[in-house]
Formats: sequence, structure tokens, C-alpha cells
Amino acid sequence: KLLSSSSTNSNGIAEDQPIPLNFNENPLGIAPRAQQAINKALPQVWRYPDKARSDLMAGLSQSLSLSNSHLIYGNGSSEVLKMALDALAQTNCQLVMPDPSYGVIIDYAQARGIPVVKVKLDSQWQTDLAKMQAKVEAHKGPSIVYLCNPNNPTGVLLPQSPLNQWLDKASSQLSFIIDEAYVEYVNQPEFVSAVARIQQGQSNIVVCRTFSKVHALAGLRVGYGIAHPTVINAMRAQASIDNANLLGCVAATASLASPEWLELSLKSNHQAKALVYQQLEKLGLDYLPSETNFIFHKVTGDNQQYMERMEQAGILVGRPFNHGEGWNRLSIGTPTQMQYFCKTLAKFRQQGWI
Ligand code: PLP
Repeated sequence: KLLSSSSTNSNGIAEDQPIPLNFNENPLGIAPRAQQAINKALPQVWRYPDKARSDLMAGLSQSLSLSNSHLIYGNGSSEVLKMALDALAQTNCQLVMPDPSYGVIIDYAQARGIPVVKVKLDSQWQTDLAKMQAKVEAHKGPSIVYLCNPNNPTGVLLPQSPLNQWLDKASSQLSFIIDEAYVEYVNQPEFVSAVARIQQGQSNIVVCRTFSKVHALAGLRVGYGIAHPTVINAMRAQASIDNANLLGCVAATASLASPEWLELSLKSNHQAKALVYQQLEKLGLDYLPSETNFIFHKVTGDNQQYMERMEQAGILVGRPFNHGEGWNRLSIGTPTQMQYFCKTLAKFRQQGWI
């Protein structure tokens, strides 16, 4: 029997549904205030979303100490990534990115005919900034560098001081798209968001963020980009008109005003991660300490078979990643869900499957 929604999640995973630990969603669901805002706005959905969107952008600009002209709304941060690439693309440019990482930008680049240079993570699963820089320097033409911080699927932060040194090298031939989809989960005090550079006026960086993760609005598609106003204007020229939805905007605004819900989500994530760490250590399975709501861990053997067996046990776990043979990405559910996962993992060990 699977875990019941009533014991784990008021927003509801039904008893007969598998536990979704594969898309890095927030298992607590949306903030109660966000739900109230949606209910209140529902009779208004015949209206275009302009006001709801400008209220959200005003709230964001206030919370980030930036002007509205530094921000752009996206239909999820996936769309912000596309707008950023479209705005930064120049003749003869290349896209340089770590591998494995979050891959949708590869499709966008390929559709535009931009060559993609993938740089394998180093032996510690860290983004290899030195090798990426070498690829940029070897290219005769502009480079767009995609960085995901913390990285997906590893959950690891980029090394701060080499990153700073590279980001200091501002040039019209070199721009950065920095994906901070999981930034709210980061615990390390030495982490500095690239938003600080935009606050200081740097103009060759776009930061992409989302309400799909800790804010739990993945189904409503709310993301945003942060950059210098000239870059935002260039992105706006690539955006489709009215890409926002009214319910997403009001829910996001209410979520921004629900710090207690975010705190609860982070606390739950922290507790649930600790349970998984403990079990992985007990079973002697390597893992990467995570700054996100997922853990990249060793499974021993074939990942595909592991995924199928987990599904048979009622749990959906992450997909295969380049260079990640024998490893799996596990999204963190509620502590109760993760207890069930831990028990299942122990049973797999008894069967000799992991
Ligand atoms: N960036 C990263 C690193 C992600 O992991 C995801 C989703 O999993 C996204 C961006 C896209 O999120 P969304 O389009 O829902 O904002």
C-alpha cells in the first residue's frame, strides 16, 4: 500500500498514485495564501493578466532591490532560458555548458543552429569551469555560457571563487546565462547569487529563476529573468505577448508574501534529506551532499532497471543522465514519503538489487 495523501500532503497525492520523486517538485504543495489568491481570482480569469503580472513584477523588483526594467516574466524559467539565448545569440556564437546539467537550452540552441559544446563534469561531479573557459578561449567568435547553480542533476554548488573570477571577465564576446532554479534551497553561507552582479550593473549575465520549485507552482508556469535593462529589452523583443497567466501571477505574489510556508518547505526538505543521507550511508551508497530538493546517489548496476523496480514499488525516481551510469537523481518528498523510500531501498538491498 502506498502512502496516503492525508498523512503526507494536504494538496494531495492519491493513495493509488505512485509517489512522484522524479521532477524536483515541492511535495508540500502551494502556500495556503497562494491557494486563497487563486480561489479569489478564479471568477476573474476572463480578464487578461496585465495587472496580475505587473503586481507580481513589482513584488519581485522590491524583493530583489532592482527596478522593473531589470526583470522579465517567463512562462516558467524554461521560457526565460529561451528568451535569454535568443537575445544573446550573435553570428558565429557557440553555447558552452556543463554535462550533465539541465538540458532544455540544448534544444533551443540546436533549433537556432548554435553549436553546443558540452563539458563533462570533473571527477568530483563538479562543473569544470577551467575546461569551459578553455573552450571559450579556443573559439573564434562570441560564446554564451550556461551555468546551473546549484547544478541539476548533482545538487552541487559551483565553486564560488573560480566562478567569481570568470564572471569578472566581462566582455561583449562572452555572456552568461545562470540558472538559479533551486536558489531558495541553498544553505551554504558562502554562496553568492549572480543577482548581486546585476545589482552592481554588470550587463553580460542573465539570471533565470522559477516559481516551480520551492514555491510549488510548476503547473502554473511562472518564471522570471533578471538582467541589465538593455539585455531585458532584447529579451522582451523575443518574448511572446501575454505569456503570463493570471492565476499563476496571483499565486506567485501570494507565495512571495508567505515566508512561513517557504520556511516549512525548507525545513521539511532538510529533514527528509537527512533521512535519505542516513539510509544511503547505512547501505554504503555514495551520494553528493545536496544544496537542493534532490539527491544524486549511487544505485549500483543499471539505472533503467532500478527506475522500473522503484516504479513497481510505487515510487517514481529520476531519469538517466549523461555520464551518470549507476547513479540516480532522487527528488525529495515529505519525510514520511522518504521513510517509505528508505524502507524500499533496504528491501532492494535484501534482494541484491542495489
Ligand atoms: N532550470 C532547472 C535547473 C530546472 O531543474 C528546471 C526544472 O526542472 C527548470 C529550469 C525549468 O523550470 P520551469 O520551466 O518549470 O520554471
